[in-house]
Amino acid sequence: MEKYAVIIIGAGASGMMCALQSAKKTLLIEASDRVGKKILATGNGKCNITNDQILAQYYNTPLVDKYFQQFNSEQTLQYFAKLGIFTYADQEGRRYPLSNSAHTVLDLLLKALSLKSNVTIKVNCLPVQVAKTKDGFTVATQDQTYVCDKLVLATGGNSGTQYLDQLQVNYKNFLPSLMGLKTTKNKGLAGVRVSNVRVRLKDFNEVGEILFKEDGISGIVIFNLSAHLARNNIRTGRITLDLLSKVEANNLLRMLASSVNHNPHYSLVEIVEGLLHKSLAKNILEKLSLDKKLAQDCTEQDINALVNFIKNFVVDFTGYADNNQVYTGGVDLKDLDTNLQHKQVQGLYCTGEVVDVDGVCGGYNLQWAWTSGKIVGDELHQ
Ligand SMILES: Cc1cc2nc3c(=O)[nH]c(=O)nc-3n(C[C@H](O)[C@H](O)[C@H](O)COP(=O)(O)OP(=O)(O)OC[C@H]3O[C@@H](n4cnc5c(N)ncnc54)[C@H](O)[C@@H]3O)c2cc1C
Repeated sequence: MEKYAVIIIGAGASGMMCALQSAKKTLLIEASDRVGKKILATGNGKCNITNDQILAQYYNTPLVDKYFQQFNSEQTLQYFAKLGIFTYADQEGRRYPLSNSAHTVLDLLLKALSLKSNVTIKVNCLPVQVAKTKDGFTVATQDQTYVCDKLVLATGGNSGTQYLDQLQVNYKNFLPSLMGLKTTKNKGLAGVRVSNVRVRLKDFNEVGEILFKEDGISGIVIFNLSAHLARNNIRTGRITLDLLSKVEANNLLRMLASSVNHNPHYSLVEIVEGLLHKSLAKNILEKLSLDKKLAQDCTEQDINALVNFIKNFVVDFTGYADNNQVYTGGVDLKDLDTNLQHKQVQGLYCTGEVVDVDGVCGGYNLQWAWTSGKIVGDELHQ
């Protein structure tokens, strides 16, 4: 049996970070054919590494705070700069590599890993059984059994549940989060993007860009709503959209009345097209049965109905779209100590999405992966 001081299962963002810090004889096990593959898909291929505003309020639990005090976004940027990865921030504080390419991040992380003589990487390697022993752990793959003193679970969301079960570790069920929503048909709206939409559902209230699909709705603000829904296990419901959140209802009323007065021969679709995407104008007027009406026939009541519809556009969602970015659920931070070691299973560490920490869109999830990987890696350094 090959013996290692540390075995890390999962070579994604947090597993790589952890291996980079480890100074002991370490085995990094990856089930797929490539280390860090997911990083290439992040941030639409640009990799939104972190955010300048990493605050607990953007996560599902305030307990993350004490971990960010150990390794925050500024320290992450310094760390990456030392690896040769330099970044810029957009208006929302989202940090991307200057190259605008996720390949930069992965390539330079891999380069740094390749220089670590204490780290052995095995790809296409799937552990089938992990067990706690008196002094450490055994990790059995289909071909071989390894022994280690410390075990790090860094398999990402929902992929390492069998190991948690084998080690009899409690965890909250993993549920997909940060994804689009399926909706009833959005007639004629597929591909329409609308900026500055206020999205409301119970206590969720956020403004952002949305993208209509034939039977779905997407965009960062919808992803963030999905996180809220996933955490509360809400799968169907009614979202209200204010399609012109920057225009007060009174002003909208005045604009529409003025346009109707000045352009009596316009159709109402043409009147509303002055304010909203034409497809939305059509969709709304059809729903109000006003699509055949001319401005000159438009009543005060019609204008009031239009304002109300634009400010309270209803979308019924019927489920979650596929391709979630993260999972909510995992090992509760309350069961882990300040170094992310399990309080009941000595020598077991959890990082990244294995822990019940999930953030909204904007670099928050990768930051958690870097932070948790760094903290555990530092612990394994001694
Ligand atoms: C399309 C997409 C875009 C995203 N964009 C962003 C973004 O721009 N910014 C941001 O902050 N977050 C983003 N995220 C989320 C972010 O990528 C994850 O939160 C982060 O990668 C989690 O890190 P992790 O180490 O926990 O897991 P992962 O990075 O998922 O790594 C887990 C690794 O473990 C391996 N593995 C799984 N099971 C096993 C097993 N049984 N044995 C061995 N290996 C195993 C996997 O193959 C994988 O390589 C995005 C996610 C997706 C899907």
